Amino acid sequence: MAGSDSKCFFCNKSGARSCSKCHSISYCSTRCQKKDWSTHKLLCASFASFDISSRPTDEHVRAIFFPVNDPRPQMVWLHLRCGENEGTKCQSVDTSPFLGLDENNQKDSRTDVISYNHVLHRKLSNSIHVSFCNSPRHDESVANKSIANMSASGGNIHFWQGPVTSYGSNGTVRIGIAEEITYRDLDMVDFRHIVDYLTESRDHRIPHTIRPNTVGVRINCVGDRNICDRPYLELIEVPPTDSIFAEPNTDSDIASCIDLPILTRRYPPHPSWNNDRRNYDNVLATFLNLSCYDPKLGTDRLHNGELG
Ligand SMILES: [Zn+2]
Ligand SMILES: [Zn+2]
Repeated sequence: MAGSDSKCFFCNKSGARSCSKCHSISYCSTRCQKKDWSTHKLLCASFASFDISSRPTDEHVRAIFFPVNDPRPQMVWLHLRCGENEGTKCQSVDTSPFLGLDENNQKDSRTDVISYNHVLHRKLSNSIHVSFCNSPRHDESVANKSIANMSASGGNIHFWQGPVTSYGSNGTVRIGIAEEITYRDLDMVDFRHIVDYLTESRDHRIPHTIRPNTVGVRINCVGDRNICDRPYLELIEVPPTDSIFAEPNTDSDIASCIDLPILTRRYPPHPSWNNDRRNYDNVLATFLNLSCYDPKLGTDRLHNGELG
């Protein structure tokens, strides 16, 4: 497609060209296009062939569905349910068919509203809503395939359970005396924001049972290094069942000062060196666990001078 006055999705340069297949997102260069491609390609063709004239009624919006057992997301029509709230007409989105819920238990679903992209550090011009089951009744060990697939390409696999569906709104509009949310079709720009959201948010919805191994660092002491021939620092995989995750308050003071939740725990000493105290020396681990608080000043004040 010829250059237009649209702006690059990533760097906001004008004169960007839209994707030649879906025409729904623009890039200034192949470099910027490449940044999006691993994600964009999962929906580009499906978006391009999604027939806008097939809109079932005016009460349907184009939405994006993330199925559990399919490696790719899908474009879908989502129905707006019309209701009345204190005498004024209002619309709500019916996500129940996609979340596998019947109308009456839609309260089992949760909807997050995205208005900021934390990966790109950008405020969105319109809100995006992401709905999912609050307590998936699906097999606990099964991750949502279409989301796992997208996040895998970014290097971080995030496990979402159950189906997820997303739709867009324009924010609130005043109609008479009432304020009403109006809904809109999603496009490929929205898709990118949704993917960033799904693959960035973590922990609070990742059940422990399916949390993948965490990368950790084993800091070897003198005995491990000199007698067991281990390196100073060793990259290790920590399984989700490791006691390091079970013990509360194992963050070191240093970790809380820099606001990074570094968990530490001690390995049992190896029998080949445990009879000599000098082999227990571990300078790095000691520093990591220094107390930053002065017990005389109470735990809520930083120590100023002596070691805690
Ligand atoms: Zn495209
Ligand atoms: Zn660019």
